[in-house]
Amino acid sequence: MERELGKPAIAGGIPARDTKIYYGHQYIDEDDVQAVVQVLRYQDLTCGPKIGELERRLCEITGAKYAVACSSDTAALHIACLAAGVAEGDEVITTPITFAASANCALYCGARPVFADIDPETYNIDPEKVAQAVGPKTKAVMAVDYTGQSAKLDELLEICRKNGLTLIEDGAHVIGTRYRGRPNGSIADMTTFSFHPVKTVTGGEGGAVTTNDESLYRKLLLYRSHGITRAEELMENVPDGPWYYEQVALGYNYRLTDIQAALIISQLNKLPMFSRRRKEIVAKYDEAFARLPQLSVQKEIPESDTTRHLYILRLVPEKLTIGRRQFFDALAAENVCCNVHYIPVYYLPYYQKLGYRRGLCPNAEKLYEEIITLPLYYSMTDRDVDSVIEAVTKIAVYYARQ
Ligand SMILES: *Cc1c(COP(=O)(O)O)cnc(C)c1O
Repeated sequence: MERELGKPAIAGGIPARDTKIYYGHQYIDEDDVQAVVQVLRYQDLTCGPKIGELERRLCEITGAKYAVACSSDTAALHIACLAAGVAEGDEVITTPITFAASANCALYCGARPVFADIDPETYNIDPEKVAQAVGPKTKAVMAVDYTGQSAKLDELLEICRKNGLTLIEDGAHVIGTRYRGRPNGSIADMTTFSFHPVKTVTGGEGGAVTTNDESLYRKLLLYRSHGITRAEELMENVPDGPWYYEQVALGYNYRLTDIQAALIISQLNKLPMFSRRRKEIVAKYDEAFARLPQLSVQKEIPESDTTRHLYILRLVPEKLTIGRRQFFDALAAENVCCNVHYIPVYYLPYYQKLGYRRGLCPNAEKLYEEIITLPLYYSMTDRDVDSVIEAVTKIAVYYARQ
């Protein structure tokens, strides 16, 4: 019994919206446009003043001592692993409910990702499962602040301190969130950020690592740019002449352009506004969906004051006559175009070939079967939010199991 796509989900019904809405969209205003144009007209396109300015802004926003701007969060994750000394034969513990990059960065270093299961209510990595996964080869823990809610950083730090591990936080979703009153980005040993267009703040592409540790900071700078030390640092002792530089490690070109940095700085000016609006939308969704037994709302830990990047609608299968796929299609027929975040990383064919098997993390696997990512972005109007709620409610009620 295939229901046709593009037709109203519910027989004879009118779609909740007459135009399509997608799960995420960037917001660019005239200030952003001007910021980019200024760089193009007057400034260095790369390695210029906007990089330092962005790094200082990130330090102000997160409270971290140091920030290193990178070409993407993926690049940031890679250099964070390198700075932590992750190498051939090591293990990095991470969550399966994340984008592949959080685990790929361990593979880049020749290490093996070890997946620890999530908490079934917050959907973030469960510190108890992390503690159980620590072994003699463990080098680092890669926590992810899934949806923007902070991972349990204190518990994770305690495990890391006890076992001599580095805590890296993939904060691709977390900008604007505070954990126990402190902004995420100054708590873990290193926190990485993403400025991809679906994230809360964008530069087209872009990323960063923040840290309070000077020696990690020096390594991050080195790995970002070919492993080559900057001339200024050697000026005292230049053997050949002023052109001299040294490559002391095998680094990469993971630099951000000043064009992107200018856009990110301009976007960061709007972070309080982005954050406020996202919180408003999440509160409206939570209120509407908490009333329906067919749906379950993500639990917030009191320690996290969350700026949500993703809104996860979770279905309660026992209370519905349709599955996630049909619910997803029914939403599309209402012009609410969703997504799903995430397929457990170890389901991906590349990971299956590496020998990871289904069944590793039952909470994560169950979550994946039941979730749909709803539209959530700054420029959604109240009307947009209401029509998403209307569509979800209509489907949940129509397909309720008695
Ligand atoms: C988006 C995302 C990444 C990758 O970020 P890029 O900036 O696109 O490299 C990594 N981890 C998570 C959790 C993400 O959501």
